[in-house]
Amino acid sequence: HFLPQDTRVAVAGADGPVIGGRGFVVIAGPCAVENQQQMTTVVDAVVAGGAAMLRGGAFKPRTSPYSFQGLGVAGLALLAEQRSRTGLPVVTEVVTPEDVERVAEESDMLQIGARNMQNFTLLREAGKSGRAVLLKRGMAATVEEWLLAAEYLMHMGNGDVVLCERGIRSYERSTRFTLDLSAVAEAKRLTHLPVVVDPSHGTGRPHLVRPMSLAAAACGADGLLIDVHTDARAALCDGAQALDGAQFADLMEQLKPVVEAV
Ligand code: PEP
Repeated sequence: HFLPQDTRVAVAGADGPVIGGRGFVVIAGPCAVENQQQMTTVVDAVVAGGAAMLRGGAFKPRTSPYSFQGLGVAGLALLAEQRSRTGLPVVTEVVTPEDVERVAEESDMLQIGARNMQNFTLLREAGKSGRAVLLKRGMAATVEEWLLAAEYLMHMGNGDVVLCERGIRSYERSTRFTLDLSAVAEAKRLTHLPVVVDPSHGTGRPHLVRPMSLAAAACGADGLLIDVHTDARAALCDGAQALDGAQFADLMEQLKPVVEAV
């Protein structure tokens, strides 16, 4: 699957993880940053499992205005604390152009969420930020629209772009979204950009995260973005799709032979 011209995104300088090329990078953490204790417990679990990067939303784009909206700037500080404690780089979502600079200062990689994939003002700002960007596919976006959104970032001079398939809307209600793994192989064929998969948001079902992660690795994805929570029932955001620490550790073991075989 690997071509010499494939883009490799070094997320945190020469010593940090590289997304794209021959490696397989697993990014894990809670959907939302909730408080210091939650972060420490979840981050300890994902580090024990072998994650290479941490995720966690401080600014949460929620469908309902009555749902937890994230801790904002205070959440960024809690994430930064975990980053210095563990040495692992962090990716976190930015939802408004005005916040790009702030989020770029406090994280290693900006996440553009599915709901903002075609927020062109936000894309332009993220393109100027100097930070690597994880670009989620909009839930109703074609592969072409997704790649054109990536072009907005690159057009502003930012070549450190990682695509993320996170499920699309279909008529199917037994999963939260329909994870489109064919789009992963297709994006890999059409572009030089790395592609990772988010099976947590993509299915919304913890029992589907393991099989879809293995399938993502098998179809050539460059990594995964996984929701982990150690007390899913108390989670303030998307607890229903999170793996616990033991499930995450099992998944990491099961991924090894698949990643080696591809
Ligand atoms: C997330 O990863 O926290 C998130 C909100 O994902 P998406 O934008 O894919 O819904």
